[in-house]
Amino acid sequence: MSPIVLIIGCGVAGPVLAILLKRKGYKPIVFEKIKELGDAGASLMLMPNGLKVLGLVDLANQLLDSAPHLSEFRDQASSGAKLGVSHIPSTMLERYGQPAAGVKRTALNLALKQLLIDNGIEIHEGWKLEDIEEKEDEVIASFEGGRRAEGSFLIGSDGIKAVSRGLLMKRNGIAEGVPAYTGLTQTSGISPTPLSIEGRPSLLNIYGLGAHFITYPISNTHSSWAITLPETTEAQENWRLYKPEEIAALKNDILLEFANWSSPVPELIEGAERMLKFGLYDRKELMPEQWHSGRCVLLGDAAHPTSPHLGQGANQALEDCYHLSIRLPVVNSQSFSLSKQELTRIFQLFAEKRQPRTAALVNGARAQGSRRVVTGGAAACQERDEAVKKVWQDEEAVEAKYDHLFREPF
Ligand SMILES: Cc1cc2nc3c(=O)[nH]c(=O)nc-3n(C[C@H](O)[C@H](O)[C@H](O)COP(=O)(O)OP(=O)(O)OC[C@H]3O[C@@H](n4cnc5c(N)ncnc54)[C@H](O)[C@@H]3O)c2cc1C
Repeated sequence: MSPIVLIIGCGVAGPVLAILLKRKGYKPIVFEKIKELGDAGASLMLMPNGLKVLGLVDLANQLLDSAPHLSEFRDQASSGAKLGVSHIPSTMLERYGQPAAGVKRTALNLALKQLLIDNGIEIHEGWKLEDIEEKEDEVIASFEGGRRAEGSFLIGSDGIKAVSRGLLMKRNGIAEGVPAYTGLTQTSGISPTPLSIEGRPSLLNIYGLGAHFITYPISNTHSSWAITLPETTEAQENWRLYKPEEIAALKNDILLEFANWSSPVPELIEGAERMLKFGLYDRKELMPEQWHSGRCVLLGDAAHPTSPHLGQGANQALEDCYHLSIRLPVVNSQSFSLSKQELTRIFQLFAEKRQPRTAALVNGARAQGSRRVVTGGAAACQERDEAVKKVWQDEEAVEAKYDHLFREPF
């Protein structure tokens, strides 16, 4: 009989790992706390490293069908002055076999859920993990409402507030608190792409006084954007979409603040068809041996939650799926089973491989966030803009940095 793998969370990593493991002969079952996955969140920038993994589960082409390939990275000041441009994105397809493209988060999540169904993988929505009990040869997960499931091993891919992580930490004698608020919030929206940037699919970063604006296309007609601001009061990461009447009021408020920013900022704010606001969180890195315990292992944001400033959270979660799946053996007989020792060995190798890269990116994202949002007045902004310019001038270093990211995971 195929070993049952309990996968907690049907976000980005959970479903992808489920498909990769099913192909190796396991029987994955996915548990998702949300009753019915629907319209939520804003968008994600998928980079070649993540898209390579989505290609393995036959999803990359489908997502890219309606998403323009990125052609450039562009940084500018709020006045419109150019700080730097790189055409690396236009070479990605040739170099790495995949481009970079923005997608609506809902489109990705629903496509992944559909893929589970098409692959005959069980998914239980409305099942919220509450506890994990471990025996010598099995693991038992308990869910809200008294439901239980048994399996050979458990994957905690339940995101930044992972219950699985809290349970594993407790087992290791660590009482971990809530994720750390980075002091920054994001207000994000989806708007028709303004004429001023139409036909030029850029990942455009705009730097101003005490604020940062980012935008990229997510379809042939629409762009996603986000404003990052320092705020001392935490805005909970609830991903609630604003109602139409709230959008109108919020747009007016933001437009007042950003009216003197150059195009396309005012047009994007004015055109917003949906908006949401949330706080940005991350966590201090775990050591590799803390990523797993007995028959359980953490994956994606559950292991290394990050703020979004490097656009790598989902891409790294996808890399995790690849690295964990290749380390798990193929189920090659009716009597196949995995001992606790064998699982511990595999999970440790996986965590040792992944921890240094993901820890560096989490720390890098936090530092990038602080650099982007400078509050020390015009002189401090000028200094920040000069520093941004300097980074782009060293083309070799820029190329090496991106190559280090995108040539992985295979
Ligand atoms: C504003 C913002 C912008 C971002 N932009 C990018 C980007 O451009 N590119 C990028 O690569 N990354 C980006 N990220 C990061 C990215 O969203 C995450 O890193 C990625 O979603 C992690 O995938 P995951 O599968 O680990 O977790 P998630 O996608 O968060 O999925 C976790 C799932 O587990 C479910 N769950 C939670 N608790 C339980 C429970 N107790 N029981 C059962 N199910 C549970 C959740 O409902 C969810 O469906 C961004 C993040 C933010 C906040």
